Amino acid sequence: MCGIVGYIGEEQAAPFLLKGLEKLEYRGYDSAGLCLNDGGKLVVKKSKGKLQELKILTNNGDTLHGTVGIGHTRWATHGEPSDVNAHPHLSESGRFAVVHNGIIENYLPLREMLTEKGIVFRSNTDTEVIAQLFEYYDQGNLMDTVIRVLSKLDGSYALGVLCRDHPDEIIAVRKESPLIIGLGEHENYIASDIPAILNKTRNIYRLENDEIAVIKRDSVQVFNLDKEPIHKELEVVDWDIAAAEKGGYEHFMFKEIMEQPKAFHDTITPHLKDGRVVLDEIHLTADQIRSFRKINILACGSAYHVGVVAKYVFEKILRIPVEADLASEFRYRDPIIDDKTLTVVISQSGETADTKEAMKEAKRRGSHVISIVNVLGSAIAKESNDVIYTLAGPEIAVATTKAYSTQLAVIYLMAIYFGDVLGKITDTEYQYYLQELQAIPEKIQQILEHKETVQYLASKLFHCNDVFFIGRNIDYALSLEGSLKLKEISYIHSEAYAAGELKHGTISLIEDGTLVIALATHEELIGKIVSNMKEVQARGAYVLCLTTEKHQELKSTSQSTLFIPSTCDMMLPSLAVVPLQLFAYYVAALKGCDIDKPRNLAKSVTVE
Ligand code: GLU
Repeated sequence: MCGIVGYIGEEQAAPFLLKGLEKLEYRGYDSAGLCLNDGGKLVVKKSKGKLQELKILTNNGDTLHGTVGIGHTRWATHGEPSDVNAHPHLSESGRFAVVHNGIIENYLPLREMLTEKGIVFRSNTDTEVIAQLFEYYDQGNLMDTVIRVLSKLDGSYALGVLCRDHPDEIIAVRKESPLIIGLGEHENYIASDIPAILNKTRNIYRLENDEIAVIKRDSVQVFNLDKEPIHKELEVVDWDIAAAEKGGYEHFMFKEIMEQPKAFHDTITPHLKDGRVVLDEIHLTADQIRSFRKINILACGSAYHVGVVAKYVFEKILRIPVEADLASEFRYRDPIIDDKTLTVVISQSGETADTKEAMKEAKRRGSHVISIVNVLGSAIAKESNDVIYTLAGPEIAVATTKAYSTQLAVIYLMAIYFGDVLGKITDTEYQYYLQELQAIPEKIQQILEHKETVQYLASKLFHCNDVFFIGRNIDYALSLEGSLKLKEISYIHSEAYAAGELKHGTISLIEDGTLVIALATHEELIGKIVSNMKEVQARGAYVLCLTTEKHQELKSTSQSTLFIPSTCDMMLPSLAVVPLQLFAYYVAALKGCDIDKPRNLAKSVTVE
């Protein structure tokens, strides 16, 4: 998920590697490290914190000798950010060094297997198993070893590997995580992202899944898993550095919208084993779970909107009263909460000041706290009783998209898990939910493939001054997020309203041409929302309706319609939010707004 860079040539590698890592700093990271082959010995230097630490440690790379090396900036997924957990990781005897982006899903059984063989692990990362596997399976032929190791790994990876006994080559492989090879004059490079090598070359090969590259000073050979050579097409990059940082897209927000299928998949996969939802990080017995009389959800901003979705989902499935609370309000209202209340706190950064303090208050009053957090080792993750991580990877745009989506994913996992423990869902429902959950990434992908439809609507509607998002039940929860997204980045005034509430006051604001975005995905209440659409149309509103594919008839009750695939009710927000994110994005782009850094907003709100 974070940064890889590698160099093989005639110059000292370390200064180049540090410069390359610097170019990847924008992605966010928690630690960094280098490994050089110095005359047949693999020398590693790594450090928690900013790259500056590593620069001090190595005197800007001067003290690390060797013309072959790999470097990494880490965004921790397994094991706290720390010096030991930083990459590169060495095998036990120091014969192999590995840098890795991604997640090894089966690292635990592999680690157990290797531990039984007497191998001693130094770190808590999933990555170290790769280094250890290299040494364990090595019988002299490097290519055979690589293939053997890869056959054992499940998950996603981009890898840069050095072997002490092969001082004239770097091995690079990838699966579901990007890796490129840069071609130079008597030197070659690897990188997870183009900016890292753009000052050296524009000629690259893109590695595809399950391709193995053997990179030497004067040659690059690529093989498949059957050791057959693959011909790679040379690509000449014409992006400037700013475009390269955004993966070729114009904004981080767009890149992150497009990353949602993978982020959702990465978040649920570690929790699905043998057809069951496994939440090992929750340290509650079945009896404790049964003892809860209430669930309290504490969060701010979009995370709070996830909480509102969770209220509908948990109440429907678990039949326990749920309160979704704004953390900033909860703190100061002498809340009624005790050890019979389960508290769920949600925060992307894990440092949101209001949420953190609200969590402390809930703990003080005896409540068990489960946090849903994206940043490993953050304050909320550390201080909650249990933490379930979203694996969205670093999110850079201020307006959240993939963090919101992965938080929802965790809510569904919890609903299925608790529903099962409490005996509230049948086996058939359990299987159905699991099947739908696993299908969500593919369905998000389908929506993304039709993004031009949303772009077209945005081009028709971006001049609007006021927008109302209306919905009922889970669609109301979703309308809160749709409205916030639009406000945050396009600066257009908008409101989210429970559709039935409109006529109790706010309908007076509807006039000729007012844009009303009606969310009509919740099957049970389609008839009701149609009536609300008619009410506003009768007062001149322009209605854009978002519904599921099976409700083609809604075309005739709205001026414009957007369709999403169907899924089980509770998971609809995961699909429906995508066109709303895209709509906000395209509108803001057409208005020329500063999309990634909207005025007055900060990514992580660490002050009250
Ligand atoms: N899963 C690995 C770790 O936690 C790699 C993380 C990354 O992609 O930076 O160490």
